[in-house]
Amino acid sequence: MTTVFAIANQKGGVGKTTSSVNLAASLAATRKKVLLVDIDPQGNATSGAGVDKYEPDYTILEVLTGEVDVEQAVVETPESSGFKLIAANGDLTAAEVQLLDMKLREFRLRNALARIRDEYDYIIIDCPPSLNMLTVNALTAADSVIVPIQCEYYALEGLTSLMNTIEKIRSVLNPKLHIGGLLRTMYDPRNSLSNDVSNQLISHFGDKVYRTIIPRNVRLAEAPSHGAPVITYDSKSRGAVSYLALAGEILRREQAMQKPPQAPARTD
Ligand code: ADP
Ligand code: MG
Repeated sequence: MTTVFAIANQKGGVGKTTSSVNLAASLAATRKKVLLVDIDPQGNATSGAGVDKYEPDYTILEVLTGEVDVEQAVVETPESSGFKLIAANGDLTAAEVQLLDMKLREFRLRNALARIRDEYDYIIIDCPPSLNMLTVNALTAADSVIVPIQCEYYALEGLTSLMNTIEKIRSVLNPKLHIGGLLRTMYDPRNSLSNDVSNQLISHFGDKVYRTIIPRNVRLAEAPSHGAPVITYDSKSRGAVSYLALAGEILRREQAMQKPPQAPARTD
């Protein structure tokens, strides 16, 4: 069984890319087969995974426009990262507009990934910071959405429109889409605002909030400039430990969901 995660929040700078790269690496570290799909023209997940944005012959752009089969756009990341990648770069900006005129425009990514999804345990899609056609493609292709939320000012702003978009996509395009979880990122326990935001999230969303909290940790911010996930760059850092914990929580949640309901105990 493959799970496709979209990491989405239309706010920029909330930790989508950091979470995509480091969750991909952490799941790969547990020997899962992982594909990271960069669908943001900024291409930060591509460079964060250690791949030069302009190096691959084909990227997600050619996959979405149908110029190549998806297999041709899958590239290796450095061995220590342990997962595969479909890259993105600035050329993708044009695709957003091109897509609007295409047949089955919302389903381009989903249909492309259908060819290869069985080869992976997890496919992780790093979304751009907007609710555009690229994000709609990611949410239509996904089974589950992870929403990173920065525990700082205005964190909850925009969350309603994201939830409405997810609901609309579920009802019209992708009935199996569900919210995997809300992920608290850049958490600073010394900052009372971090605690306030965290408490508000739990009171609104309850169990949908991952128990794992991603702390603010400078190693997470440094790792991309070394083209490596944090577990490679500094495996003992708090950032590395927290993303490994998140991978563990996700695996446990999935196992719990797949378990058949227990038969009631016999009383005779
Ligand atoms: P997004 O993809 O949502 O725009 P990023 O993952 O690129 O967000 O994060 C925005 C910035 O914050 C980046 O410079 C990143 O290195 C940094 N960052 C992300 N998460 C953390 C964290 N937990 N601790 C410290 N810095 C972080
Ligand atoms: Mg990003």
